[in-house]
Amino acid sequence: MKERLDELLAHILNPEIELRRRLFQLLSVIALAEFLFVSLYTVLSSENTGHKILMIAGTVLFALTVAMTFKTGKMRLGSCIAGLLYFMMYPLTFFSSGGMYGGAPVVFSFAMVYVFLITQSWERVLTLAVCILMSFACYYLAYTRPEMVIRHTVLVEHVESFLSILLVVLLFCTLFAFAQEVYRTENTIVQKQKKEIEELHQAQKRFFSSMSHEIRTPVNAVIGLNEMNLRISDQKEVKENCRNIEAAGRGLLQTVNEILDISKLETGGMEILPQEYQTIAMLSEIVTIIAIQAKEKGLAFTIDAEKSLPSVLCGDAVRIRQILLNVISNGVKYTREGSVSLAVSGEKKDDGQIIMIYEVRDTGIGIRRESIPYLFDAFQRVDAEATHKIEGTGLGLSIVKQLLDLMNGSVRVSSEYGKGSLFHIEIPQKIVDDTPIGTVDFTRIEQGEEPVYEAIFNGENIRILAVDDTPMNLLVVKKLLRDTKAIVDTASSGKEALEKTAQNRYDVILMDHQMPEMDGIECLKHLRTQENGKCRDSRVICLTANGGAEMEAMYLREGFDAFLIKPIRGKVLETAIRDVLQ
Ligand code: ADP
Repeated sequence: MKERLDELLAHILNPEIELRRRLFQLLSVIALAEFLFVSLYTVLSSENTGHKILMIAGTVLFALTVAMTFKTGKMRLGSCIAGLLYFMMYPLTFFSSGGMYGGAPVVFSFAMVYVFLITQSWERVLTLAVCILMSFACYYLAYTRPEMVIRHTVLVEHVESFLSILLVVLLFCTLFAFAQEVYRTENTIVQKQKKEIEELHQAQKRFFSSMSHEIRTPVNAVIGLNEMNLRISDQKEVKENCRNIEAAGRGLLQTVNEILDISKLETGGMEILPQEYQTIAMLSEIVTIIAIQAKEKGLAFTIDAEKSLPSVLCGDAVRIRQILLNVISNGVKYTREGSVSLAVSGEKKDDGQIIMIYEVRDTGIGIRRESIPYLFDAFQRVDAEATHKIEGTGLGLSIVKQLLDLMNGSVRVSSEYGKGSLFHIEIPQKIVDDTPIGTVDFTRIEQGEEPVYEAIFNGENIRILAVDDTPMNLLVVKKLLRDTKAIVDTASSGKEALEKTAQNRYDVILMDHQMPEMDGIECLKHLRTQENGKCRDSRVICLTANGGAEMEAMYLREGFDAFLIKPIRGKVLETAIRDVLQ
């Protein structure tokens, strides 16, 4: 018996079983116990025989219903039979056992709760309405025709009233205890799942960032050495091959960055880092990149920036550039002939803010009206037959939309299928310097002319130390800086770097982060406090394959003077060295 009861209790508290099923079992057990108790009491008391027979018959029928339901699991059928039993028993017991002075009203209030809890939707409303109507009819009849009610003795009335209170207390205490237990177990399950999801997110983050690091390292060698070939070769074909290698390398990097960004956005790890920036500089960077892409495809590219735009703004320029580059590159990618244009304007607000409006227009393949709502879904590429030959992951616009949401910005698309598209982007920015940018002449960059390589500084008197555990990276840095004439020494570990800084004075140190034994941050700390060290106040640039704007903030906090991400371009490396030396 005890085993059976334990088994039943374990079943009722098992969170894997549907709640309604467990509730049905719990309430049925209470109802059965109550039926048995009342029947026993009725048999032993001086009640009329008709009522005794009714109670025993009702108990047996109810016990059979519950047993059948437990056995077959047909809960719906079981609850229907129990409900029917209720409809039959209620008026009979009411009139045969004292009417409103007997135990029937309280017992059947319990029955109403029982039927309410185990039925669903319209069945629930219907049964409840019928139960209330029937109670009303019984009370009305007992009031208008009191002779229909067989009254108890005063003693039995008191005993029944007391038993009814016991029943109500038992019912509510059990229900509350059950509800509490359900809440506690559900809560434990939710907490456990939350922890598991968090661990999964962390693992995913670790995987993506190490994948990004592992891919960036060899791509650094490919792009860096390729740039050297481009610089030194005069042969048209070699140059063209180099440009193709470069484009493929950049494409690979973009895919890695997109996967990293999507993972950060999904785990809520993406942060917007506002900083002051020059409006023209930000636009020029975009135009420089896009003009080359457009020229390669034989498309015209134009930019038109409103004269009155403020010259210095505050916002996350890195992310804004990413958004615009994404949308404009799509314009170039999905246009076979014609043009792509960017129009920049602004709407000043009273609170020192400006809504920057970027409109990207193309004369490309266009987007069907019904596809527009799906454009911003991750991994979603629309119009398969038109786009399947064009490379893409379907992640770009999803990232664009999510970044805009983080910056309180917005994007709208209008398009005519087969004719072209218009992406209208709005981003609020803080005005730092309201001096108008005036008429900017982007013509030279719009042409997509590739600048002839020229070293940015003359490094004859500059000594540089490059620290990296990957020999290929050291080779790339050495080659990229060759034309500056700077003296470049190398060290393949933190320890070797410290040996060199104890002997020589270096103006600039290019430090990798992830190195075995002593990493770049540790090495920087030793360097700054090195006894007899000759580079305690040298400029140290972190040159790492760990991407991301938030990484930049971390490296600057750790004490680096600048941060560069691999793969590195010669011009960017030279500019950073020149800037830290200034
Ligand atoms: P993808 O890597 O495929 O370019 P995006 O998220 O950037 O991914 O774009 C999603 C889809 O939206 C693209 O696959 C393409 O079908 C459509 N699309 C985006 N921009 C344009 C455009 N300017 N013209 C036509 N179709 C576009």
